[in-house]
Amino acid sequence: MRAEIISVGTELLLGQIVDTNAAYIARELAELGIDIFFKQTVGDNPGRIQDAVRLAMSRADAIIMTGGLGPTEDDLTVEAVAAALGEELVHNQEVAVHIKRFFETRGRVPPDSVFKQALVPRTAQVIPNARGTAPGVHFDRDGHMIFMMPGVPFEMDGMMRDYVLPHLRERTTGAVIRSVVLRVTGEGESAVEARIKDLIRGTSPTVAPYAKLGEVHLRVTAKGSPEEVAGQLSRGVALVRERLGELVYGTDSETLEDVVAGMLTSKRLTIAVAESCTGGLLAQRLTNVPGSSAYFVEGVVAYSNDAKVDVVGVDPGLIETHGAVSAPVAEAMAEGIRARVRTDLGVSITGVAGPSGGTAEKPVGLVFIGLTSSRGVLHRRLAFGSEPGRQGIRHLASQAALNLIRLQLLRA
Ligand code: ATP
Ligand code: MG
Repeated sequence: MRAEIISVGTELLLGQIVDTNAAYIARELAELGIDIFFKQTVGDNPGRIQDAVRLAMSRADAIIMTGGLGPTEDDLTVEAVAAALGEELVHNQEVAVHIKRFFETRGRVPPDSVFKQALVPRTAQVIPNARGTAPGVHFDRDGHMIFMMPGVPFEMDGMMRDYVLPHLRERTTGAVIRSVVLRVTGEGESAVEARIKDLIRGTSPTVAPYAKLGEVHLRVTAKGSPEEVAGQLSRGVALVRERLGELVYGTDSETLEDVVAGMLTSKRLTIAVAESCTGGLLAQRLTNVPGSSAYFVEGVVAYSNDAKVDVVGVDPGLIETHGAVSAPVAEAMAEGIRARVRTDLGVSITGVAGPSGGTAEKPVGLVFIGLTSSRGVLHRRLAFGSEPGRQGIRHLASQAALNLIRLQLLRA
C-alpha cells in the first residue's frame, strides 16, 4: 500500500511551526510497512488544497491529511476535499451532539461558529474525536482512502491510534518497516561511506548515511514480516560493524556521552577534566547523563594562562616555550587535574576556537586533547579548520575528547 501525507496550514509553509504531525504519521505508517513516496504541505487555500488531494489520489492508495478542520475562517480542508470529490456537506446530528456535550462537560457554552464542524460530506464516515470538538472525516472513493484529522497534535494522535491505524492495519499485509541507527564517530562522512559503499547500494536492508557535526549516523532499514525484518536488520548491523569496527560507538538514540558514562560506571573508574577553549562543555556533556556522580569528580575551566598554572599546576615554562595551545600543555593539564583530584582518568582540552586569535602556526580550529591514566599520558592533535565556526569547533573538540576516552576505555 502507498500512502501520502498532506499537511494543511499556512503557518507550516511560513516555517512558524514544524510539521511534527507528518513525522509522527510517517513513523506509524512505516511500522505497518506502508510505503510513503511523497508528502505535501499546502497553505490554507481551497484551490490548492484541492490540487494537493487530486495529485495525491493520482499516486497513493491512502491519503492522510491533518490541519484546517477547526471552526475558523481559515479552516477549509473538509470543504475543499468535498468539493474536489463532488460531495455536498450535510449537517451531522451526532457530531452536533458531541460538540454540545464537549462544551457542557467543561461548563462552557458553545459559540455558533463551532457547529460548522458538524457539516460533513454526505457519504463520509465521521472519525470520533475524544479529545476535541472537530471530528475527523474518512472517505473511501474509487479505491482510495482519505482521512482528514485536526492539526492539533494531541487530537490527531488520538484519532490515528483509535481509528486510522486500526483501519489501515486491516488492509495491509502485515509487513513492517523498521530501522536501526548506528552512530559513528572519529572519521568523516566520505571516509565512512567509502568503507561501506557496496552496502549503501544494497536494497535489503538499505543503509543510508546522515552526516552530523562530529559524527555520522547510518540508518539500516528493512521491510518485510517482523521476523524477516529482525533477521535482515541484525545481518545489516553486523556487516556495518564488521567494516567500521571501533568507529561505531552506539545505536539509535544513544549519545557518545551515554556510552562513555556507561563504560566509566561499569569499570568503576573516575574522571576529572581541565578545559580551556571548550569552557566546560566536556564537563557538561559528561554530567548530562543521570548517575554521573558515580564517575565525574571535578571539572575546571582553566581559561587564562594563570589559571592553567595556578589551578591545574601547569609549569609556566611549558606555556612560555610551547604556547598554551600545544601538546605539552595539553598533557600537563591532564596530568595536573588528575594529580589534584586523584582520579583514574584526567582529560584536558586546549585549542583555538576562533574566530580570531589564529596564527599561521596555530590556526583557528587547532585543538590538543590530553589524556592521562595509570597507563601514562598521551595527546591528540586535531585540526578542524575555521569552517565549523566557534561553537562547531567547541563541539567537535568535546566530541574528540569523549571519543578518546571511549577508545582508551575499550582497551582498559
Ligand atoms: P483547530 O480546531 O484547533 O482549529 P485545526 O484542525 O483547524 O484545529 P489547525 O488550525 O491547522 O488545526 O492547527 C491547530 C494547531 O495545531 C496549530 O496552531 C499548530 O499548533 C498545530 N498544528 C497544526 N498542524 C500541525 C502539524 N502538521 N504539525 C504540528 N503541529 C501542527
Ligand atoms: Mg484551525
